[in-house]
Amino acid sequence: AIAVRSVDKSYGTTQVLHEVNLDVAAGEVLVIIGPSGSGKSTLLRTINHLEKVDRGTISLDGELIGYKVRNGKLHERRESEILAQRTDVGMVFQNFNLFGHLTALQNIIEAPIHAKGITKATAVARAKQLLARVGLADKADAYPRQLSGGQQQRVAIARALALDPKVVLFDEPTSALDPELVTEVLEVIKDLAKSGTTLIIVTHEIGFARDVADRILFMDGGRVVEEGTPAEILGNPRNERTKSFLSRVI
Ligand code: ATP
Ligand code: MG
Repeated sequence: AIAVRSVDKSYGTTQVLHEVNLDVAAGEVLVIIGPSGSGKSTLLRTINHLEKVDRGTISLDGELIGYKVRNGKLHERRESEILAQRTDVGMVFQNFNLFGHLTALQNIIEAPIHAKGITKATAVARAKQLLARVGLADKADAYPRQLSGGQQQRVAIARALALDPKVVLFDEPTSALDPELVTEVLEVIKDLAKSGTTLIIVTHEIGFARDVADRILFMDGGRVVEEGTPAEILGNPRNERTKSFLSRVI
């Protein structure tokens, strides 16, 4: 489970996260929605310590991310520990971020071999299973440039799963895709949700959010404004800012 407690984050003099609190239980699917600039990506990036928080804590299964308590004070962890912690948090970005000079299979086995010391044979066997799971069993040897955007994103999802993460974070996984490629990626994410993988998904696809989310959280201005079930947030929003956002996107 993930616990975000009173997190503040500023860039220079601009505060982009204000007192953010968030809990995600194991197996839960949390969808985060909100206007551009509301801090959604920044929040995701703090969860794997790609961004440091200014105040507050984030923990995964009871272990503080990025920090350790020593003599009652928080100390940042060593780089090697931060990298090890990151293997528990899979991340899928808007622009796929595949290594262009590596095949689909090579993209997937890279981290298991180098970050976790898994043997090549084991990593390859697992990567093939993952490619099959995302419907790309026949694309193991294709390079990213030979794949459609939807296929590239499915490889990126397989890559994120290759380390058996405790949680997978998605930052607008379909917003760079041509409309006809969106569904194939959303279907893969829905399958993951059904299989009990813990997911945090930032998306503008409200219909998808309704289908897949156990809980939806609305952010605005760096704050969690409102959260609840899809029926509560999409069907009966209480906050004026949630209402006005939804009236613009639905
Ligand atoms: P979008 O829907 O457009 O992706 P978002 O909700 O993901 O928006 P963030 O990317 O988290 O928003 O940005 C929140 C605020 O922080 C914005 O005002 C943004 O300009 C600012 N910001 C984000 N990253 C940086 C950075 N590296 N340096 C300075 N300011 C930043
Ligand atoms: Mg963003």
